Amino acid sequence: QANTRESLYLVSEFANAYFQRILHKTDQGQAIGLSYFKERGFTNETIKTFDLGYSLDEWQAFTDEALKQGYSIEYLEKTGLTIVKETKRFDRFKGRVMFPIKSMSGRVLGFGGRILINDKKAAKYLNSPESDIYHKSKVLYGIYHAKQSISKEDNCYLVEGYTDVIQFYQTGIKNVVSSSGTALTSDQIRLINRLTKNITVLFDGDAAGMRASLRGVDLILEQGMDVKVCSFPEGEDPDSFARKNTLEELKLYLETNAKDFIQFKASVLFEDSKNDPIKKADTVRDIVNSISKIPDRIKKEIYIQECARIMDISEEVLFSTLAQIDKKEV
Ligand code: ATP
Ligand code: MN
Ligand code: MN
Ligand code: MN
Repeated sequence: QANTRESLYLVSEFANAYFQRILHKTDQGQAIGLSYFKERGFTNETIKTFDLGYSLDEWQAFTDEALKQGYSIEYLEKTGLTIVKETKRFDRFKGRVMFPIKSMSGRVLGFGGRILINDKKAAKYLNSPESDIYHKSKVLYGIYHAKQSISKEDNCYLVEGYTDVIQFYQTGIKNVVSSSGTALTSDQIRLINRLTKNITVLFDGDAAGMRASLRGVDLILEQGMDVKVCSFPEGEDPDSFARKNTLEELKLYLETNAKDFIQFKASVLFEDSKNDPIKKADTVRDIVNSISKIPDRIKKEIYIQECARIMDISEEVLFSTLAQIDKKEV
């Protein structure tokens, strides 16, 4: 087992160097991959920092090179970089810009690859499959580059995508990671929990982003962490917003718009229907349900008080609702 994993790490390291070489040193890589990254506003330094790369638009260019260098087909297949069908071998990633996904300690575990032209037939992002070294639910994109600054700032920004992480980092906010397309998991939160107790969830200005962040909030509270939530204007995501603004403007936006989870839930679930009693009851129950996840009793009480104030409802009712929820759960 240990041997297998070590071999998978070696194949992944090789692939990481290979995709970077293709990006920087080949005509196709430069003309297509590098210009794509440049158009997105990434500097050379950023491209190097994140080891961004490019996969040739050919059937088996990577696999052929890896075999030539002595890597075995068994491990190439196990990383998912090569797809084996009967006697044929195909590269998983073709004509995509490549984002290596690294562990906390900087080892390459897998890759995300993005097509260059948005086209409804192909998935925009393709990821490595699960392997003995790559467990999607236990990995956060960007954690290796962010860890120091997460500790230093005592806060972690959580965004949706690869490019959000990279653009924030380039703008000067380095304490940022992404769950990259999978719904946030408890294991991912635990990785952050080792570095800070504070998470600020930043989500894309669309309905999907909001729904996903609502689900993540309770998981964060369950681990006794403090969570804030911040949305972006309709149609913007952290990447596009960071690109249009200076570091100072971005920081100001985050400070002004980050809400604690009660304000956030109250505003999302309730804002447009302040006079609808049924909606209000649902919102209150939803918030109290989140509060019930908080392990610390003092914090629970403080949040109940805040909820009472924001929703204009008595603390007694909220405490008895909380007691009902707690009772159901045991
Ligand atoms: P871009 O700015 O490059 O268009 P994005 O990061 O803004 O990408 P979103 O559509 O907001 O893309 O999706 C957020 C994240 O979800 C992506 O970064 C990626 O990790 C993941 N994702 C998006 N589309 C897919 C897909 N078709 N298959 C797998 N993962 C995806
Ligand atoms: Mn989105
Ligand atoms: Mn996005
Ligand atoms: Mn985007």
